[in-house]
Amino acid sequence: MLPVVVVHGGAGTVPRERTEQSCAGVKEAARAGYDILQKGGSAIDAVTEAVTLMENNPTYNAGRGSVLNVKGEVEMDALVMDGKTLASGAVSAVRKVANPIQLARLVMEKTKHLCLTAEGASKFARDMGVPEVTEESLITDYAKMRWKKNLEPEANPVESQMGKMGTVGAVAVDKEGNIACATSTGGMINKMEGRVGDTPCVGCGGYADNKIGAVSSTGHGEAIMKVILCRLILFHMEQGKSPQEASDLALAYMKERVEGLGGVVVVDPKGTWAARFSSLQMAWAAVQQDQLHYGLYHGEDFIESVQEQTQ
Ligand code: ASP
Repeated sequence: MLPVVVVHGGAGTVPRERTEQSCAGVKEAARAGYDILQKGGSAIDAVTEAVTLMENNPTYNAGRGSVLNVKGEVEMDALVMDGKTLASGAVSAVRKVANPIQLARLVMEKTKHLCLTAEGASKFARDMGVPEVTEESLITDYAKMRWKKNLEPEANPVESQMGKMGTVGAVAVDKEGNIACATSTGGMINKMEGRVGDTPCVGCGGYADNKIGAVSSTGHGEAIMKVILCRLILFHMEQGKSPQEASDLALAYMKERVEGLGGVVVVDPKGTWAARFSSLQMAWAAVQQDQLHYGLYHGEDFIESVQEQTQ
């Protein structure tokens, strides 16, 4: 069944006028990740590339297009994990980089730490020669409009966030059976300055272990952290549940225990995959055996041939 790439573009409700671009972006990212695997590339390269493309796409709440904190600034979180060694790298509350996922990967590969935050992460980026971008280049008109709307006294930022998310993530299994995950986000809309969410936390925003599988999550970060969503799903898989059963169990638990909604993409070592969510929608796409699957609403699974699409 190997190899496979599954990506998501955030759990929530996608406004009608943005559904098409949301689906197009996840399909493009899944195809690019799969292309790497087809050429013999690694799962970690595939998830990094898929997430980089979605960070560059202003449709999503990651990289360019990130939501703004209460001061109207961009602070981003990202995590990458290699299931072969359990090595991981993360950045939190990082500013002025185009691709936090690539910086997270550098943390994994070039430091002896797992996570760098805020100014320290920016300094590390400079030391690594990662170009600094202007804050304006990461801010879209859409993000500005939502920020302003949520400053109004009657606004409920959590409700509004649950309405329109757009965190991005990917999981993959390569030809050698190695597994990886990557997740990147601008966080929660109008969050406090310095707020760090679930995304850069191992076991919350993602987890990858060649022996069990990999998960990348999206949703209400504080709820995800309370139940350690990704590791909880892998725990259920260790007990014999399929990726789909394990995801449904853990998402139901998060809803019932802490009233949190979210979504996940999951793979197991054989290449069995799932894209599940408790929110109204989640844009997702998966590629395996030259077939591209994608969907946005519950129960959707559209199928296209990868070959046709890439021509
Ligand atoms: N989990 C992200 C966070 O709380 C938000 C999201 O997935 O939309 O930072």
